[in-house]
Amino acid sequence: MMKIPFAESYKIKMVESIRRSTRSEREKWIKEAKYNLFNLRSDQVFVDLLTDSGTGAMSDRQWSEMMLGDESYAGASSFYKMQNAITEITGFPYFLPTHQGRAAENVLFSALVKAGDIVPGNSHFDTTKGHIEFRKAKAVDCTIDEAFNTTLDHPFKGNIDIQKLEKVLSENPADKIPMIIITVTCNSSGGQPVSIGNIREVSSMAKKYGVKVIFDAARFAENAYFIKLREKEFARHSIREIVREMFSYADGMTMSSKKDAIVNMGGFIALRDKEIYRQASVFNIMFEGYITYGGMSGRDMNALAQGLYDGTDFDYLESRINQVAFLGNLLKDAGVPVQFPIGGHAVFIDAKRFLPQVPKEQYVAQTLAVELYIEGGVRAVEIGTILADRDPVTRENRYPDLEFVRLAIPRRTYTNNHMHFVAAHIINVWERRNEIKTGYSIRYEAPIMRHFTVELEKI
Ligand SMILES: *Cc1c(COP(=O)(O)O)cnc(C)c1O
Repeated sequence: MMKIPFAESYKIKMVESIRRSTRSEREKWIKEAKYNLFNLRSDQVFVDLLTDSGTGAMSDRQWSEMMLGDESYAGASSFYKMQNAITEITGFPYFLPTHQGRAAENVLFSALVKAGDIVPGNSHFDTTKGHIEFRKAKAVDCTIDEAFNTTLDHPFKGNIDIQKLEKVLSENPADKIPMIIITVTCNSSGGQPVSIGNIREVSSMAKKYGVKVIFDAARFAENAYFIKLREKEFARHSIREIVREMFSYADGMTMSSKKDAIVNMGGFIALRDKEIYRQASVFNIMFEGYITYGGMSGRDMNALAQGLYDGTDFDYLESRINQVAFLGNLLKDAGVPVQFPIGGHAVFIDAKRFLPQVPKEQYVAQTLAVELYIEGGVRAVEIGTILADRDPVTRENRYPDLEFVRLAIPRRTYTNNHMHFVAAHIINVWERRNEIKTGYSIRYEAPIMRHFTVELEKI
């Protein structure tokens, strides 16, 4: 009997050409881009794994919803469509649309976070941490230690360490802790999921200390998929039932809809409490737009509403997560050091184990990411020292425990042939890794979130 291979639960209706390039073209382009992959033009890239944010392919249903968008300033039917989808899927009664995830953070944190506050969580995402630190508050990472060992097999490496959390909660007054942030899935530690068991423990500890729980929910559906596969109690639950259960333990959420709602632009805040909703509404009107559109067009709200249903469909999630695992396993089988188990949206290459000879002061993960681009026109992203920024007080570089090159897979966009192509190039670099001895130095950097605009020089 043949083993039945996996096949996607969709077929392709529209295609977009992508351009190949030569190695010498790429060497010239990346130098002109100051060795910052964000500075490349998209037509200088063949397979673009920079991010899975806003880069997915919308479904025929989402495109047809675009035509039904209501562009009324106030009270558009698109707003109510989005509200119905959010309430049905998350259970939260209140919501505010925003133009993307960091805007949701900006609005909600404007209402809740003040200078001197402490915000514990699991490896806060860079924009989340940015919005906390921008307000002179502090993000405290309470992720379990197992997350920092890339070879260790653990089903829920996004989990919060309850002892670390209790230490923060017991050593600080509750009015200094505006929220605990649970990131599902945990992007910065490798797209790793958080279990319902852990969410329950965090929630009961939060109640004990009188602190709110907010989800950074960009990849909530992928998180639910892993819960279904790995947490026995939920093996027979539907994705939507698991999602409802997850959110039942939270007071609210911020959402980058560019991820699991599979739209090119959009976000929202959803809340259980009317008073917080009212406070946040003021900032939404100031920063984003009136409360029934908040920086989004009616047509985009429609596509987002449909995207929440598309994105919580089991067959879709199975296709998505299998494709990520497919790439990850090609690399793993060739001996390339990757974060294990493979995460939901991306494969994370452990750059310190790939290039142990490159000193950390020369940006190991960035060095590898540039090399992969020159090798095959594959654009990945550094999740390492450059992203970690400088300490806001000492201004010293922060050297994270893990230096990753992240290969993020856009949703419903590339085929497994592209994954083979990417893997082959990475394996070729792996085989000549000893030739790469030096990295880069920084010539220019912004005071916060420097990775987007940093300029580098080859050493
Ligand atoms: C992408 C992301 C954000 C920020 O959302 P944007 O839409 O990029 O502004 C916040 N948190 C997590 C976990 C994310 O993945």
